[in-house]
Amino acid sequence: MAYDFDLYVIGAGSGGVRCARFAAGFGAKVAVAESRYLGGTCVNVGCVPKKLLVYGAHFAEDFEQSAGFGWSLGEANFDWATLIANKDREINRLNGIYRNLLVNSGVTLHEGHARLIDAHQVEVNGQRYTAKHILIATGGWPQIPDIPGREHAISSNEAFFLKALPKRVLVVGGGYIAVEFAGIFHGLGADTQLLYRGDLFLRGFDGAVRKHLQEELTKRGLGLQFNADIERIDKQADGSLEVTLKDGRKLVADCVFYATGRRPMLDNLGLENTGVKLDKRGFIEVDEQYQSSEPSILAIGDVIGRVQLTPVALAEGMAVARRLFKPEQYRPVDYQMIPTAVFSLPNIGTVGLTEEQAREAGHKVQIFESRFRPMKLTLTDCQERTLMKLVVDADSDKVLGCHMVGPDAGEIVQGLAIALKAGATKRDFDETIGVHPTAAEEFVTMRTPVAG
Ligand code: FAD
Ligand code: NDP
Repeated sequence: MAYDFDLYVIGAGSGGVRCARFAAGFGAKVAVAESRYLGGTCVNVGCVPKKLLVYGAHFAEDFEQSAGFGWSLGEANFDWATLIANKDREINRLNGIYRNLLVNSGVTLHEGHARLIDAHQVEVNGQRYTAKHILIATGGWPQIPDIPGREHAISSNEAFFLKALPKRVLVVGGGYIAVEFAGIFHGLGADTQLLYRGDLFLRGFDGAVRKHLQEELTKRGLGLQFNADIERIDKQADGSLEVTLKDGRKLVADCVFYATGRRPMLDNLGLENTGVKLDKRGFIEVDEQYQSSEPSILAIGDVIGRVQLTPVALAEGMAVARRLFKPEQYRPVDYQMIPTAVFSLPNIGTVGLTEEQAREAGHKVQIFESRFRPMKLTLTDCQERTLMKLVVDADSDKVLGCHMVGPDAGEIVQGLAIALKAGATKRDFDETIGVHPTAAEEFVTMRTPVAG
């Protein structure tokens, strides 16, 4: 049968755009449907605008610390509307770049909501298109628990477009988004509390990292309330929000921001017209080559709920394009040693196993740790400390994990990830000459294990 397209991609986000562009480059006839914004979550309401807001929040401490270096500034004033307008302008520019990337690589762009009609057919804006392969790359959407007053809460989607910086913010959740946005609001001057339902936030990260960040955020005056969960939210006559916790305590805020995970975006997608199955958590179930239970339909990125990170969606998009249209270049995505950063203030950077995971996997481990006051702060009153940690396999000497909390941790850990992926041993780290004076050189100068 002749199809309109070789590949029809639903969703022009990180994974969809990457797959579409490369598939077209390999000679396939490709279309992409996008219902909302080119570039998807990352470009519009994720990584990019988030990082711009983190940069914005960082200036507060730069101004304060500059006094130690002889600078005197007038009173610093922050204008939220300017930051948001400039951020919007930059995102518009990026939307244009994504459009050009697609069009210039020969991909047909359909702007509208796509719905599956059957295993080979998609409907967009009332038009039906057939395709040999269909790729679902529709991403995710914030998930807010169904509590009374839920309608008064916002998610990351709305936070990027608030008209004004709220004076008092309650951030709910203990994952990436909660920790990053608590830092943004606090850094920009809002009275901020982070409420997390468990004992300690950032479950899954190394224990020392979680504890260290807790201490550093507390030193900065960011309110952390653990074992705290919201029962209901009530709007007061003055517009403020009264929040009742499950333990009966009441808090008042101007904004309640939920960052309690993301669900797959499957709304009105027409999956019921196909044989695509979902896994136990409700994400699209795929095999190791991203094929769903409907052989002509594949899925990648946040909608399959494996690792919800942009570089992972990109790698999956690339793998699908190669497998379908350039099989001789196909390489499976390696999910080991995925580096990641939490852009809290200070940052977390991490790659490889945590100490807890290494022990659980049966490794006999050696732990190396360094805690120090960054050189930049020695002329200031700031008492922030940096943590660096290596988890080493005592038998093979292989470095299993690198963890850091401190300035530029995300930047530093990217290089370490290459070393770990190449199988570097502690001896390789020790024999590497440091770059002096940097914080990063600590990673090659830790000599005495703190725990075995
Ligand atoms: P998306 O980028 O979400 O793209 C899906 C696209 O599909 C969207 O544009 C959507 O409009 C479109 N779509 C959905 N349904 C349809 C339909 N039926 N028809 C047509 N179009 C449709 N990751 C990092 O690596 N680093 C970070 O710093 C980082 N920060 C983040 C901060 C926030 C606040 C959030 C929310 C996420 C962040 N992420 C970060 C995660 C990252 O954004 C996602 O992992 C990534 O965008 C997933 O890409 P994707 O292609 O799967 O989906
Ligand atoms: P996460 O899954 O990272 O964290 C969700 C948090 O919400 C957890 O602390 C979880 O607690 C808590 N939670 C879940 N359900 C409830 C509930 N019903 N009531 C109270 N708390 C609840 O999700 P995020 O929304 O923070 O981010 C989504 C994903 O986006 C991340 O996992 C990450 O992959 C990606 N991302 C990446 C970033 C980066 O690379 N820098 C930045 C932002 C997002 P518990 O631990 O107890 O389950």
